[in-house]
Amino acid sequence: MELDLSPDADWSELYIDGEWRSAEGGETIAVEDPSTRETFARVARATEADVDAAYEAAAAAGEEWAEAPPAQREEVIHEMLDLLEGHDEEIVGLLATEAGGVPAAMGGTSVHLAADQAAEAATVPRRMKGEHAASNIPGKENVVERIPSGVVTVISPWNFPLNLSMRAVAPAIAAGNAVVLKPATNTPITGGLLFAKLFEAAGLPAGVLNVVTGRGSEIGDRVAGHPESDVVAFTGSTPVGRRVASKAAENLATPAMELGGNNVHLVTEDADLDQAIDAAVFGSFVHQGQVCISINRHLVQESVYDEYVARLTERAESLPVGSAHDEGVVVGPIIDESQRDEMLEYVDETLDAGATLETGGHTVDLDGVDDSLVVAPTVLSDVTNDMSAACFEHFGPIAPVIPFSDVDEAVELANDTEYGLSGSVHAGDVGAGRRIADRLDTGMVHVNDQPINDEAHVPFSGTNASGMGGYNTDEFLNEVTETKWISLQHEPREYPF
Ligand code: NAP
Repeated sequence: MELDLSPDADWSELYIDGEWRSAEGGETIAVEDPSTRETFARVARATEADVDAAYEAAAAAGEEWAEAPPAQREEVIHEMLDLLEGHDEEIVGLLATEAGGVPAAMGGTSVHLAADQAAEAATVPRRMKGEHAASNIPGKENVVERIPSGVVTVISPWNFPLNLSMRAVAPAIAAGNAVVLKPATNTPITGGLLFAKLFEAAGLPAGVLNVVTGRGSEIGDRVAGHPESDVVAFTGSTPVGRRVASKAAENLATPAMELGGNNVHLVTEDADLDQAIDAAVFGSFVHQGQVCISINRHLVQESVYDEYVARLTERAESLPVGSAHDEGVVVGPIIDESQRDEMLEYVDETLDAGATLETGGHTVDLDGVDDSLVVAPTVLSDVTNDMSAACFEHFGPIAPVIPFSDVDEAVELANDTEYGLSGSVHAGDVGAGRRIADRLDTGMVHVNDQPINDEAHVPFSGTNASGMGGYNTDEFLNEVTETKWISLQHEPREYPF
């Protein structure tokens, strides 16, 4: 089958029960290239009736798929992985067009990580094992099976669409579930329809994967609370996550939630500043800071604070900014106007509260683009933890730098947030960094690095308002499977009456 994964391909239909169809009512939504601000595609605007059709198909197809031999499930994932790798350049191009992902900084990394996630998912059918437990009752044998949960709902965000859909869709299918995938409206292709094309070409039976594009404000509640849904795997913001989790819980579906973050890059006076600054530049500015695990706050010890701010500012000013389509660009566009305006508002509020603007804080005009979405890499000093750019998840190329006097104060500042996702520590030797890492209340911490790390064979999860449940490895396998206890009474049992 000829696979057209270019931005110009037809992306205007939903994928339900193995068929491409228009939304009921025939409406579509424009998809914009954030670099050029031009509409490059239109996708279907699904209604609740379309959502119902997707779940009906998933529930029906899931029963047979759950019985498919492990080797068949593994083969489909491998086929999909081969197609992904065989079309890597097209997919990197799609990520640039749809998500504003700079190929060298975001697109290539996304495809590489997606391949890693698919390869990990391909091991799921072999790893899915039950157990055998002894019984206290004479003559009884306990068998514990591990079975697929049924229908898994996947709702993904726009910031790393390919990976945040892949890490849920591929293992859920590999474990024998059917899936209904609702991607973000800003990235319905790389977070959704692309998966339909890849899995269809890989030979996945009809109905096992269904993709509904449409606005969360219109179909979100129906998706999150659908009676046919057994697990809701959501990645997105904490406020929407709370609503989605409550809809799932009302329906007694398992909520697997990966939510917002407010991650610190903690640098003590013993740190190797060259290494700390290299890490800081990547962790703050890659993909324009639109990563749930990017550096939200830099905590830097007073004795090295001025040098750190000066060097970070110099590096921020040296980064090439512009269109995600231009060679050599490192910092591309923000996904849309509302995200851009919100982050610039946080910067203004932070300056009004007494912080100093070292560099940035404004949009960058692009030739021929009306109302550019590119924001200059921004460094703010004299920041305190309660200022907007520090206490809110700014999700932009913004580096607020906060001074601290000693490690106890740094740990207190780091933990003074409702979130607990990722973080990084530079404190000289690895042992000193590890001791601080142990005191940070987050699901992930990286010593002598920056917070953006994801390896498909290592658990990925947050604490507190950053989520519940986890991705990768057995963490996610446990979310999308259930145990079933079957006891076998081999001898007549004696009852008390
Ligand atoms: P978002 O606004 O919460 O949206 C996430 C997804 O939820 C989108 O598909 C969205 O659809 C959908 N949605 C919106 N309202 C809904 C509703 N009422 N019911 C069901 N679904 C609904 O998040 P975002 O702005 O796309 O992504 C950025 C956020 O994601 C940040 O907070 C970031 O930290 C977080 N994130 C977390 C992780 C992690 O692993 N912890 C990873 C990446 C991102 P529409 O697009 O149609 O509104």
